[in-house]
Amino acid sequence: MKRIGVITSGGDAPGMNAAIRAVVRKSIFHDVAISGVYYGYQGLMNGNIKQLEVGSVGDIIHRGGTSLYSARCDEFKTREGQQKAIEQLKNHEIDGLVVIGGDGSIRGAQALSDLGLPCIGVPATIDNDIAGIDCTIGFDTALNTVIEAIDKIRDTATSHERTFIIEVMGRDAGDLAMYAGLAGGAESIIIPERKHDFNNVVDRLKRGLERGKKHSIIILAEGVGEGFQYGKKIEEATSYETRVTVLGHIQRGGTPTAADRVLASRLGAKAVDLLIEGKASRIVGLKDNKLVDQDIEHVLSSNHQLNKDVYNLAQELSI
Ligand code: ADP
Repeated sequence: MKRIGVITSGGDAPGMNAAIRAVVRKSIFHDVAISGVYYGYQGLMNGNIKQLEVGSVGDIIHRGGTSLYSARCDEFKTREGQQKAIEQLKNHEIDGLVVIGGDGSIRGAQALSDLGLPCIGVPATIDNDIAGIDCTIGFDTALNTVIEAIDKIRDTATSHERTFIIEVMGRDAGDLAMYAGLAGGAESIIIPERKHDFNNVVDRLKRGLERGKKHSIIILAEGVGEGFQYGKKIEEATSYETRVTVLGHIQRGGTPTAADRVLASRLGAKAVDLLIEGKASRIVGLKDNKLVDQDIEHVLSSNHQLNKDVYNLAQELSI
């Protein structure tokens, strides 16, 4: 392995920069040259690639977003697009690629590996929707952002005795909503992985207010539906005044937490080690808090499992 490339793709996540820094510094530590691919797979197909040095990744460990920028690119999903990418990698003498991103991006890493260019996937997405690992890069930061918002909303909800619906990101996964609901003390948590009984949510609201609760907070995962529609439904069923907050993209940005920086540094460095060992088509991650690598195909063909115990506990504590 003479030269490694590093790319970020798909939705950005806080901690991507810490992962880029780890890939760059670990490569240089091993005397392997390192190139950065800008603007995701689109940039790769266009040859938007530059050599990186130790100093290129200075002062980024604490920044959200990605200093390599990101993009979504449909052409790369085609065999022709992937061949273009392979040509560019060859032209730039890149022997292996570290792909930092979500499941879509890591599928791209698999496709390039299948065409003979060894790739390692580093899971980074606030959705925490990758199977077989404890946590994706960016999840902890996003969770803390949601908690901060819930705490603020709780202050105003208490003052005005209102019911708040907070819509949380996560695509088809409910992890962000579930952990935020538990840590934020929400009255109800509604996520795509669990069928929810609307009447039960209404009963909980009524019971809470009857026993003198000053406010109610309902956390709704975006994968279930829209917060504003849900708020309307609650108003119709109860005649309680509701307020809706859609947290949106503030969940994607911000300074990565210490946990995300440490995770990203460990995973980025591990990805470089694997390429140097001659591995390909692997996805790195912490599993039961141990650094592991697993087959991309195997991981992406499995569904991320919701932690049942955490879900049940959140239900029990919000009676
Ligand atoms: P994320 O990586 O955050 O899950 P996307 O699912 O949008 O985001 O994927 C990011 C990019 O990865 C896509 O725009 C596309 O270029 C590439 N990609 C996604 N799915 C595949 C696939 N099945 N094969 C090859 N490339 C893919």
